[in-house]
Amino acid sequence: MGLLIYADMEGICGIQSWEHTGGSSPLYDEGRRLYTAEVSAAVRGCLAGGARPVIVQDGHGGAYRGAKPFMNWIPDQLEPGAEYVRGWRWGSYVEPLETGECTAIAFVGAHARAGMAHAVLSHTIDADGWHAVSVNGRIIGESAILASIAGSFGVPAIAIAGDMAACDELEDFLGAPIVQAVVKRGMGRYGARMLAPADACRLVEERFRAAVEDRASCPPVVTYTDPVLIRVDLASPDRASRLAELEGVERVEERAVQTSGDTFWAAWRTLWKPS
Ligand SMILES: [Zn+2]
Repeated sequence: MGLLIYADMEGICGIQSWEHTGGSSPLYDEGRRLYTAEVSAAVRGCLAGGARPVIVQDGHGGAYRGAKPFMNWIPDQLEPGAEYVRGWRWGSYVEPLETGECTAIAFVGAHARAGMAHAVLSHTIDADGWHAVSVNGRIIGESAILASIAGSFGVPAIAIAGDMAACDELEDFLGAPIVQAVVKRGMGRYGARMLAPADACRLVEERFRAAVEDRASCPPVVTYTDPVLIRVDLASPDRASRLAELEGVERVEERAVQTSGDTFWAAWRTLWKPS
């Protein structure tokens, strides 16, 4: 079984402030180390469970001031034996799903959706610019968006590591138990009770190994009835104006746009162009 891991930074153990996730603070260097270590732990677990290939995408859009996003790992500290996708926009890497190279996905560093109170660095896509993404009337977060993209290719999610709210959110969305590695619990948006990062890495490695070994009991593939309607509620009208310029995206309110397609991926790609 090939496995595609979608990784993000806000749900990594040890990270609970924006300074950890980009910019010029020394905390960003600390965040990069923690992120690299936890992703590597997930890879070790997946390889030990027998997954081949293991491909990981850095889906975090933060960066050093003025630098390009989606390249947060410290490359020479990454676990050998996997392949790593950098410099490619979150929510748009599907090639291994299209070709059948990967038949399962998992999440590392997952965070909860915008507006969740007891959730570390909760947001959807944009830290403050997007209020909500809903699909067929239901508000969903980033992990559910990625699970829905994978579902468009018949691929299920088998494991999630992140803060407790993110793990609960995905399980609630899927409507079935999914293997979880809860590495911290949010106390508001910027506080957390968390494991020691070394313990978190051990937990992620163990749980991801178990998820791969017990692949048969993973949650069902995400499916939708056709047509799939995706609505985005934004913080300001100018944001809606920019999205509404895209072909196939319709403005439905001053601060909201909507698009549709026969699959989630078809609808999603109209408003989220690959980089
Ligand atoms: Zn992120």
